[in-house]
Amino acid sequence: MASLTLNHIYKVYPNGVKAVNDFCMEIADKEFIVFVGPSGCGKSTTLRMIAGLEEITAGELYIGDVLVNDMEPKDRDIAMVFQNYALYPHMTVYENMAFGLRLRKVPKDEIDKKVREAANILGITEYLDRKPKAMSGGQRQRVALGRAIVREPKVFLLDEPLSNLDAKLRTAMRSEISKLHHKLQTTFIYVTHDQVEAMTMGTRIVVMKDGYVQQIDTPRNLYRFPGNKFVAGFIGTPQMNFFDGTLTRHGDSVTVALDGTDVRLEVPVSYFDKAERSYLKGDKSVTIGIRAEHISVDPARYPFKAKCRVSHVEELGTDCQVYADFNVQSEETVAESPTRVIVKAPAGSTYDIDQIIEVSLDMAQIHLFDKETEVTIAPRIPKAVEVDGTVAGGTLSLLGGKVALPPAMKVEDGNYQITVPTSAVSLGGTLAAKVVSEEDVNGLRLLRLAVGDRVLFAIVPADAKATGAVKIDVDMKQVTLSKEGETVLPALAVTNVLPAKLLKRREEVTTEVNGASKTKKVDVYSLDVCRCSFDCSEAVAFRILSGGGADILSKKLAVHVDAYKLHVGEKGIDAVVKGVEDYGAEKFLRCTVTHTEVKPRNEGVVTEDITVYVAVDADAVAAYGKEGSSIKLTFDADDIAVYEVARDIRLA
Ligand code: ADP
Repeated sequence: MASLTLNHIYKVYPNGVKAVNDFCMEIADKEFIVFVGPSGCGKSTTLRMIAGLEEITAGELYIGDVLVNDMEPKDRDIAMVFQNYALYPHMTVYENMAFGLRLRKVPKDEIDKKVREAANILGITEYLDRKPKAMSGGQRQRVALGRAIVREPKVFLLDEPLSNLDAKLRTAMRSEISKLHHKLQTTFIYVTHDQVEAMTMGTRIVVMKDGYVQQIDTPRNLYRFPGNKFVAGFIGTPQMNFFDGTLTRHGDSVTVALDGTDVRLEVPVSYFDKAERSYLKGDKSVTIGIRAEHISVDPARYPFKAKCRVSHVEELGTDCQVYADFNVQSEETVAESPTRVIVKAPAGSTYDIDQIIEVSLDMAQIHLFDKETEVTIAPRIPKAVEVDGTVAGGTLSLLGGKVALPPAMKVEDGNYQITVPTSAVSLGGTLAAKVVSEEDVNGLRLLRLAVGDRVLFAIVPADAKATGAVKIDVDMKQVTLSKEGETVLPALAVTNVLPAKLLKRREEVTTEVNGASKTKKVDVYSLDVCRCSFDCSEAVAFRILSGGGADILSKKLAVHVDAYKLHVGEKGIDAVVKGVEDYGAEKFLRCTVTHTEVKPRNEGVVTEDITVYVAVDADAVAAYGKEGSSIKLTFDADDIAVYEVARDIRLA
């Protein structure tokens, strides 16, 4: 039994293929995790890194609370089952299962007990004396599972274990593996390219594509709340219908228009609460997704109706799938038409070819994606809400209330669009709001708040009192003010990015060994940031070295250090104060630091002024806040993120 932590894990193969990028996940004890995605997306590589069969380029892997990056596979207490079984052909089933235990010098009677128990769990007791070649694929895979079970590992890793089996056997084995997980009460990580396997077995699923994690969630949440078009299309059969279209708001409703069709649906604006407003102006093409099961051949089922022309019907016994086209004049074959739609209909439904039928759509179930990025424009936790506001004499009127603008936010009087991130909204403060509803989003408590004539969202602590009328606060440093789409006042960038290099020096250290002092030379590493050197702990240096490779000393690095982790000190990076950003309760020094870089082949130097923000208290503002003050900035080199710039890898 064990939990696992994957912390910013990367894999770059020697040929430069970035197979896994920034994989972060906490796996709880006893979970059944499925990695799913098309071939080549990095599932096996991730699994093999967990097994210890593949070196981790950067990042940290913990099993329980032990860092195992450099632990031998045999010491990790995991067992792996492969697609090709990997049984020894000359050994009987019994011997195949006992072999690993014998190598570990487990007493004979204990081996016997474990082998028989495992055989019993898997229903292969009667085959114990057989050789693998006299068994079917399904039976062989059971033996492979048995060989893993007898080791009583903390974690089971299964790499496409069913893909050599025929369809019927796969379904049977699927439920057997689920039952096995239930019986063994151990953590399982299972790799497959088959979304049905993922959906039916996983307690949580990791959807991957091109080396990147797309989404980690429960099967139900992946189906209901896909975070991008790829996940939406990958999960569910038949595949979600996708259309290009536009959304245009008129007062309380939004017209949903599907390109290339006459479909125009008038939908209440409340259906789009979570959607980014800029997509509701009708001038941006969006991808609209709706599943076959959310379209009904009964035109009275939902109030949103559309006509389509039937192409053909597939009878599935339990129901049927109607292939049709929303472009009733379409000349294209339905398979290639961008306006093709699949509708689920009751079993036995019959339609004529080219018959025009009216369907109704459950518009509460549609999915909206940006056409270019394919990311949802209506995430479960909305990133931000854009509202209208007016500034007059240093006071911002928005959402039926007034907020005094802090000194850092000096803008001319006038009307603005105010982008309020969800992370900026909290309980307390002065704006009157009403809690309309709340939902649990993967353990986070999301409130839907009616504020003035708009809806805002807030993440609040689980135990916060939040019902009915409440007061809310907006963290003004996170807010952006714009006019006609142009940013007038951006949110404060609290993460500072500074160029860096790793330096190595030799140092003599003296240690006492049995009363005698011994001197030896060791390598000491430091990060050089804008001509100031910060010593790294051994652990951080080790991570940078092992992730960065042999030529790490010549590579460009970047340290990410947020405003709260930078301090004014006696030693540190030279910085010049340019001003104070005063947000009332919080104050920041705005400084510039100068980075100098020698161009290759000594072709002169380039200098760059970088703006840096430092969180400070009122005393520090009094001491250093004058424009032109020279200060020194320092940070704890063990408490920052270090990136390798060229490969965009987080090393530490
Ligand atoms: P999946 O299991 O999702 O099919 P893999 O993890 O096997 O994908 O592979 C991810 C990517 O890494 C692919 O582009 C693959 O070609 C590449 N890859 C896998 N193994 C190696 C290797 N040993 N050397 C170089 N590239 C590799």
